[in-house]
Amino acid sequence: MTGRLDPEDWEAFRRLAHRMADDLTEHLKTIAAKPPAVPLEPADYAAFEEPLPWTGVGWEGAYDQFRRHVLANHTLNLHPRFWGWVVGTGHAGALLSEMAVGALNAAASGGDVASVWVEQQVVDWLKHLLEYPGSASGLLVSGASMANLLALAVARNTRAPDDVRRGGIPALSAPLVVYASEERHSSVDKSVELLGLGRDNLRLVAVDAAYRIDLVALRRAIAEDRRAGRIPLAVVGSAGTVNTAAFDDLTALADVAAAEGLWLHVDGAFGALLAASAVYRDRVAGLDRADSVAFDLHKWLHMPYGVGCLLVRDAAAHRQAFALHPDYLDETALGPFSGPVRFDDYGIELSRPFRALSVWMAFWALGARPFIDAIEENMRQAELLAKLIDGEPRLERMAPVQGNIVCFRYVGDLADEDLLTTVNQRLILALGLTGTAVLSDTRLGGKLALRASITNHRTRREDLELLVRETARWGDELAKGLGSAPEGAEKA
Ligand SMILES: *Cc1c(COP(=O)(O)O)cnc(C)c1O
Repeated sequence: MTGRLDPEDWEAFRRLAHRMADDLTEHLKTIAAKPPAVPLEPADYAAFEEPLPWTGVGWEGAYDQFRRHVLANHTLNLHPRFWGWVVGTGHAGALLSEMAVGALNAAASGGDVASVWVEQQVVDWLKHLLEYPGSASGLLVSGASMANLLALAVARNTRAPDDVRRGGIPALSAPLVVYASEERHSSVDKSVELLGLGRDNLRLVAVDAAYRIDLVALRRAIAEDRRAGRIPLAVVGSAGTVNTAAFDDLTALADVAAAEGLWLHVDGAFGALLAASAVYRDRVAGLDRADSVAFDLHKWLHMPYGVGCLLVRDAAAHRQAFALHPDYLDETALGPFSGPVRFDDYGIELSRPFRALSVWMAFWALGARPFIDAIEENMRQAELLAKLIDGEPRLERMAPVQGNIVCFRYVGDLADEDLLTTVNQRLILALGLTGTAVLSDTRLGGKLALRASITNHRTRREDLELLVRETARWGDELAKGLGSAPEGAEKA
């Protein structure tokens, strides 16, 4: 029995499935022996510009395309020396669970069906993991950007003095103001824009020397807005900033929010997971007092992209912000539509992928412990990397290390800031192109910094030692190339 889109020859299909499982298993097994980045070839670009095929080449042919133009290039975040941006490395088991996701093709929105119960259970597990109140509501979403947007939508709809769902922003008597530090993630800005609050009403609060929100400046900004007749709405705390993995003082933010009647949202895309660590939990003390928390499972928990989670302390407020029931989505309908929860009541997606399955299977397979162990290992590795950098006179550390991100740069004998920028920009390329490591960069105090974000359970001590060695060596090489090591490397 087949539709037109299913295979005619199921046995050939089965053989291909086995072959793919073999090839992909091999790819993962041997990943460390490959370079962390493989540039695309002209043939790849040509393939990506092919027009829509009206007649297919069959699954064998499609797999061949994939192998040549996608798989051959993809080591990147699977690799032990990939430390760019904040990117999860995945884990091998996702190969199995994502196969199941594809085969089931569940549209996990509501109903008394396994996919809904599985997501509900995963959300409960996550609340437990983060020690967040069990009565909170939760939703799996595409990532922390979406979770931040939804959280601020709940804040707006709950705390605005008028019914924003009905009257919209124009019905408000005064602008609503959101507070976050200068180091907040850009998705906070986008959320404020999308919610119609206007970016001028996102108050960017200064940070201290460790890149944490300055609480005095925050209180002053709130007072100024009140005096000017604006309505302070919410404060967004960062549990792990993208630049330096700084942790805002969430307990203090919770106190400010309580005193001022503001919604406290925590963007804990990666850092919120430290709540599950007995060793590092202090970094996010106060997280359980937040009105809402956004965090990713596809970054530091290494679940397959894209899955993040939103938790909202007041479940009724969460539901009230989104629930809408047209006749064709009648709540009282029986049968498969009478499950424990309707996830579309808690967000804006109706048809939703079965994101929960891979998380659920991974926790069943490995337990939560090894995921938290890997996080703790990365924390220790960041401390080690900082120590290695501090012990290498040609390198300079650029920020305090409070989490899993280390910012540094090559200095050597160079003093000129423009030259330093050029050398360090080229360093990132050199490290990538020579198969040494993938880093990204940022600016700290106006200076270019190399940034190693260790959200990688495959990283070993030797990988970090290699990074420090090769950064110093390539830095010397590039500085020489610019004819700008006047004193000569010998003297240094
Ligand atoms: C990555 C990140 C986000 C956005 O998360 P996505 O999963 O990429 O949507 C938000 N905040 C912080 C601090 C992040 O690191």
